[in-house]
Amino acid sequence: MTAPRLEINLDAIAHNARTLVDRLATKGIRVTGVTKASLGSPGVAKAMLDGGVVGLGDSRVENLAVLRADGVAEPLTLIRSPMLSQVDEVVRVADVSLNTEAVVLDALATVAAHRRTTHAVILMVELGDLREGVAVDEVVELARTVDRLAGLRLVGLGTNLACHSGVVPDQQKMDELSRLVEQAETACGHVLPVVSGGNSANLDWALTTNDVGRVDELRLGESILLGTEPLYRRPIDGLQTDAFTLVAEVIEATRKPTQPWGEIAQAAFGHQPPAHSRGSIRQVVVALGRQDVDPDGITAPSGIRKLGMSSDHLVLDVGDSAVSVGDELSFQLDYSALVRAMTSPFATKIERDSRYQRPDVTVEPLSESDEPLVNPTGLRGGAAVR
Ligand SMILES: *Cc1c(COP(=O)(O)O)cnc(C)c1O
Repeated sequence: MTAPRLEINLDAIAHNARTLVDRLATKGIRVTGVTKASLGSPGVAKAMLDGGVVGLGDSRVENLAVLRADGVAEPLTLIRSPMLSQVDEVVRVADVSLNTEAVVLDALATVAAHRRTTHAVILMVELGDLREGVAVDEVVELARTVDRLAGLRLVGLGTNLACHSGVVPDQQKMDELSRLVEQAETACGHVLPVVSGGNSANLDWALTTNDVGRVDELRLGESILLGTEPLYRRPIDGLQTDAFTLVAEVIEATRKPTQPWGEIAQAAFGHQPPAHSRGSIRQVVVALGRQDVDPDGITAPSGIRKLGMSSDHLVLDVGDSAVSVGDELSFQLDYSALVRAMTSPFATKIERDSRYQRPDVTVEPLSESDEPLVNPTGLRGGAAVR
C-alpha cells in the first residue's frame, strides 16, 4: 500500500455525529456538519448525514461544489463570508452563506435575482473573538438591509467564537446573541428560524446550560471528526478519537548518537539537540514531512519519541521498539495536523466503511480528463463550477 496515507474510519465519524446530534436534540439544537477539514469528502459528508446532521457546511465553495455534484440534497452552507470574486459560484452551489459585509450581500442579491433564485443569509455577529462578525450595534440595521434586497432571504443570526482569540462561548455571549435575534425580529417583522450559536467550542456550554435561549443550531467539525473539543482539546465522553490515522513508512533505521557533531548553526526547522548526551539511540527516519503534516499535531505510537521534522523527514527515537526499514508506523492527528494531511497531495486518502460493507475507497486524484478548476486539491468528486 502507498505511504504516507490517511486512513479514514467513516463508521467512527457517523458514530460521533449521531452521539452529538442526539445529545444536542435534548436541548432543541440541530447540527450542521462541517466538512472543511476533510476537503469536502463525500464519504465523510455521508457519514455525518447518516449520523443525523441536518445539513453540511464548508468554508470553501469548491468543497461544497464537490458535495453538490455528488448528489447531496441537504442544505449546503458556506460558513466563510463569500469572496466578492466568487458570489456567482456561491449562489449557484450554496443554499445559505454566513455574511458580514453589505457590499457582498449586494453582490449576492444581484446574482440571485439575475438567476431568479433566492439565496439564504445568516448574519454573523462579532461577540469578541475578533474574526468575522458585524458589530453588535450594526446588526439590526444590516438585517433590515438584507430584508430589502430581492434575491436574498434573511434566515438568521450566528456567531463564531474561540477560533481567532480563544474567547469562550459562555452564557453571557449566547444570551447576547439571543437578545439580538429578538431585536432583529422586531425590526424586520418576521421570525428568524436559524440561530447558529457557534462551533465545537460551544458544546460545553450547550450541553450543560439550562437555558439555550434562541440558539437552535451549532456548526460542528472537529468534535465529529476527531472526538475532541477545541477549547482545551480534551476527548469528548463517548466519542471515538481515532477516526483518522496517518500511516508512514520507515526509510532509515540505525543506531545514532544523540549529539550532533561539528560547529552548530541553524537547522532548517530548529531541531534542538539535548543539552547532555544520552549516548546512542535507535533512531529511525520516516518518509513524512512538514509538507504532509503539522509535526506538533501528530502523536507517535507509545514508546516512540519525535526528535524533529523537516520538509520531508521525520526523525524518531524508537526506544526499545524493533522498527526496520520498510515498516509502517501509525500516528494520531490533531485538527491542525489533520487539515495539513488532508490537503497534502502526497498523502493518499483511504476511506473505510463497514456500514455499507463496501470495499475501502481510495480517494483518487483527478485524472487529466476530469474537469479542472473546482477542486484544486486533487480529490475526486468531478464537480465543476461553471
Ligand atoms: C471551522 C468553522 C466551524 C467548525 O468549527 P469546529 O471547531 O471544527 O467545530 C464552524 N463555524 C465556522 C464559521 C467555522 O469557520
